[in-house]
Amino acid sequence: MLRGIGTSKGIGMGQALLIVDQDVEIRVEKIPDTEIDAEIQRFLDAKEQFIKDTEKMITDLSVQLGEQEKTALVLKNQIYLIKDVELNDGVENLIRAQKICAEAALNDTCELYINIFSQMDNETMNQRVVDIVDMKSRMIRILQGIQDVDLSHIEPGTVIVAKELHPSMTALMDTSHIAGIIAEKGGDTSHAAILARALEIPAVLSVKNVCDKVHNGESVIVDGEYGEVFINPIQKTIEIYEKKRTVFLEHREELKKYIDKNTETADGARVMLAANIGNAEDAAKAMEAGAEGIGLFRTEFLFMNGISMPTEEQQFEAYRKVAVLCKEKPVIIRTLDIGGDKDIPYMGLTKETNPFLGYRAIRFCLDRVDVFTVQLRALLRASAYGTIRIMFPMITSLQEIISVKKMIRDICQNLDQNGIDYDKNIQIGIMIETPAAAVMADVFAREVNFFSIGTNDLTQYMMAVDRGNENVSYLYSTLNPAVLRMIRYIIQCGHEHGISVGMCGEAAGDSRMLPLLLAFGLDEFSVTASKVLDTRKSIADWTMKDAKDVTAHVMKLCTDKEISNYLSDCIMNK
Ligand code: PEP
Ligand code: MG
Repeated sequence: MLRGIGTSKGIGMGQALLIVDQDVEIRVEKIPDTEIDAEIQRFLDAKEQFIKDTEKMITDLSVQLGEQEKTALVLKNQIYLIKDVELNDGVENLIRAQKICAEAALNDTCELYINIFSQMDNETMNQRVVDIVDMKSRMIRILQGIQDVDLSHIEPGTVIVAKELHPSMTALMDTSHIAGIIAEKGGDTSHAAILARALEIPAVLSVKNVCDKVHNGESVIVDGEYGEVFINPIQKTIEIYEKKRTVFLEHREELKKYIDKNTETADGARVMLAANIGNAEDAAKAMEAGAEGIGLFRTEFLFMNGISMPTEEQQFEAYRKVAVLCKEKPVIIRTLDIGGDKDIPYMGLTKETNPFLGYRAIRFCLDRVDVFTVQLRALLRASAYGTIRIMFPMITSLQEIISVKKMIRDICQNLDQNGIDYDKNIQIGIMIETPAAAVMADVFAREVNFFSIGTNDLTQYMMAVDRGNENVSYLYSTLNPAVLRMIRYIIQCGHEHGISVGMCGEAAGDSRMLPLLLAFGLDEFSVTASKVLDTRKSIADWTMKDAKDVTAHVMKLCTDKEISNYLSDCIMNK
């Protein structure tokens, strides 16, 4: 059995088809002065062809995807990339200055970006690299007149095995015949993972050397939940996995019944169930899954996707799109949260010894008022089109809250003077994700309209444990009594001051945490779109009385291990 990262749940069984990536060779040819303009035109023609091909791929792929699954249309990123003004100027300048052919100029320009993005240890940035590499090699194939491999005729029950699945490869496949996907590279947010989830194809990525271990036509099983791959399994294993597949498919059908239901406990206590998103496509998916609002829109992805800062218009359009899509449902948009593990190359952040304790989120924004003002203006303008709420990350002091409120007041005044519409009663909230904010929750609650508990950071700061450091990950537990007491205190402070308290950290979707959060009185649970239905079903499994009894016992326990074991037993016996 081989292990990797399970990125799209389900059991896939079928015959392996190995896909070998074709490398393109780049010749650096010199261009005479008289042919420079023609060479630039050759690049522009290839670009037109590339856009046409990619748009066709997107259309073909859309037919296979549900309306809500447009997230998977990651190929759109490649169209943005090839249209990027800086990239185009770079290629043209190189052709003119160095008198080299379009292939070489494009290759050199792309390599520059690839270098910048690869140095960042961050999944989103790595994804940029995949996009640029895929775009570059397709462009070069167009320039050199090389045909793509035909992947449109795939036998039913095929398990795709590849080093890395590029977006354009997947777009060319007949995905209805794909039983599973295995690749040597890629993580949970890679294109292959996003597409596999959208098409409900089980997928395991980051499986070391799988291409050397499996041969074409061999029988394979993919367990997309546990990240396991079996090559030539024995009959007994096949039988076990056939049963697992049936159970999985039945569970998926069962969850669909919860799409239009209220989120409430078995004895009728209502709570709000929202979703965490990174863009409009996620929002569409969340609405489709029956989310009652957006509890966290992480705007940093908007800034991380491009190679320069998004303009006020671009931001306004992105926020407006989500607000309109969610109709009257509330959309909490968090202002830029960079720094920590999220870098944006063009912002020129310096390397820090302790980035999680450094120049990040609200600290960066209050320092770079130029960047912050643009975002706040875009948010306020978009608020005229739906129910937008603005949320600030990484708050540690009252002064920060006072400063952001003053900035908002000033911007509103300016919008008024210019007759620009916005929501005059817009709600302002903060993330409670630092111990300082948690301890001061009673004071901060007087200043804002809502809290949202960011357990991902709150746990790391409470436990003094870097959330990305494997060596100390045993300490990173939201079930630690210290963290639980803090969460209870934050909710209590919010309620004493009459404001709503939500949670948008991963803990909101942890089934073990649910009884505790219900008993503490959490108002809003915000989870990833794929967990909305699971969470609604789990909440429906509890009565408030049971949740309170379980919580009373948990709050007497002193270690996260005891708490975790006790809660797991409670869930098992439900
Ligand atoms: C959190 O810290 O819990 C949170 C939701 O924010 P992020 O994971 O984006 O830091
Ligand atoms: Mg956070």
